[in-house]
Order: sequence, then structure tokens, then C-alpha cells
Amino acid sequence: MNILTFDIEEWYIEKKFSGGRSEKYQEFDRYLKLILEKLEQTNTVATFFCLGKIATDFPEVIKTIAEKGHEIGCHSNEHLWLTKMTPQELFQDTHDAVSALEDVCGQKVISYRAPAFSIGENNKWAIEVLAQEGIEIDASIFPAKRDFGGFASFPTYSPSTISYNGILLKEFPICLTNLFGKELAYSGGGYFRFFPYWFVKNKINKSKYAMTYFHIGDLLHNKGGVMSRAKYEEYFKEPGTFKNRMIRYVKSNLGTKGAFNKMSKLIEDCEFISLREASKNIDWNNTKIINI
Ligand SMILES: [Zn+2]
Repeated sequence: MNILTFDIEEWYIEKKFSGGRSEKYQEFDRYLKLILEKLEQTNTVATFFCLGKIATDFPEVIKTIAEKGHEIGCHSNEHLWLTKMTPQELFQDTHDAVSALEDVCGQKVISYRAPAFSIGENNKWAIEVLAQEGIEIDASIFPAKRDFGGFASFPTYSPSTISYNGILLKEFPICLTNLFGKELAYSGGGYFRFFPYWFVKNKINKSKYAMTYFHIGDLLHNKGGVMSRAKYEEYFKEPGTFKNRMIRYVKSNLGTKGAFNKMSKLIEDCEFISLREASKNIDWNNTKIINI
């Protein structure tokens, strides 16, 4: 079972951090159109995790995706990391996001992905808050250590039921591979750009379960220079030292040339379904229950 997901946030991030340059919006629109065309050509239905703020400020983006029959999931309201929120703040954020998205897309929103996979050991309570807001399926867990968090003690890379404080939620973690003695993702973000195409394709075709995650930002080439200290600190909420900013620059620009074609080829060569569809295909009564 291979699941195709996109995180849709660029329009709002551009508005909030870079002043809303119209040529950037046009570029995002163009990439979205190309993605939707590719999905149509290959008869593929995907899940698009969208910010609530995209529904509020750029409703056409959400409508265009939903009209093509794709699942609209929630990617928080403003792309704030859950590790920086209190339970009450997450409750409000999710509530605002889900209602804004549902108003525009006309679907019930049941799937969720936290910005930067920011559910980990220290904020497991997020599961309870999300369930209270009608979320049934979560795809926020990165079951290894990563730059910003990760959930290293999460014991599986397969779909499973999470139990927290008596609340159950269906979880689709990111799938990882062991390479160079490290657990690494390969099916999305910078990792997808880094690994050669044949490696990713073989890995996906041989796995029982693969979870992809793409951003339009992953596919853009020439994304501009190193972030200013102020912008970096506002966005990443950590010191904008030169080293930190350079690491981020290299990671976000690595392999962007040809990234769109690489992703398109993957969509042609492997079969993908949406999260909602994947969830219907699973016999949840017989999956592992993981107490976190
Ligand atoms: Zn995101």
C-alpha cells in the first residue's frame, strides 16, 4: 500500500514571511496545476494536507484540489509546530483550521499532519486534542530522531492504532529505511531529492507500506539565497546562526533540479492511493495497538 500525500502551505508562508510576491503565487499555482494534471493522467487520488489559512486567504487553491476529487486533510492552521503550542492553543488552531477547510472544500476533514511532524514524546497529548476535533487519521509521526523533534521511541513504521489516555487514533507513520547505520526517510522532502530515483522506486515497490510526503517547495528550483537571521528565527524559532542558516539552505536546495520530473515519474511507475482510501483497506481490528 503506497500513499501519496502533499503538504500545501506555500501560499500562506509566502504571504506571512516574504510579502506576498505575485510571481511566487503564480509559480505555486503553476506547480499545483502540473501536479493535478499528473494525478489525473495516472488516475491517482491523493491526500492534500492543507493549512486552514490557505482556505481563508487562498480558497481557490483548496477548491481546485477538492474539485478534482482528492482528499483534503488538515496541516494545522498557520503552520506553527505543535511542540510550541499548549493543548488549548492546539485545540483552537485545529478547530479554526478544520472549520475553514471544511467550509471551502465541502468534505469532512478527518486526516491530519502536524507541521514538521511535530508530535513526539513530549506532546503526546496532541493525539487527544486532535481526536476531540474530529480527526480520525493521523500522519504526523516520524519514528526516529530528526532535526526538529521526531518520535524516536515510536515502535513501528507501519499503520497502527495509537492509544493515548483511552483515546484511539489511526496512525500512518513515515516509513524509514536503515542506511549507514541510521534510520532515514526516503519518500519525501529533501530525502526524496537526495536519493537516486531507482533507490526510491525499488524501496517503494518492495515495501508493504510506503508513505510519501511532498511539498511544492520541494519541487521548486532556484529558491533564492540564504534566509536572513530575522526571517530564520521567526520561522524556525531557533537561533539564526550562520551555520544553522547554511544547513537549512543546503537541505532545502539539494537536488531541486529535476525534482518535479522525478516525482512525476514515481507517480507513473508506482501505484498510489489517498490516506482515506488506505484507511478503508485496513482491517483496524487486527492492527497493533500502540500505547503511547
Ligand atoms: Zn508543512
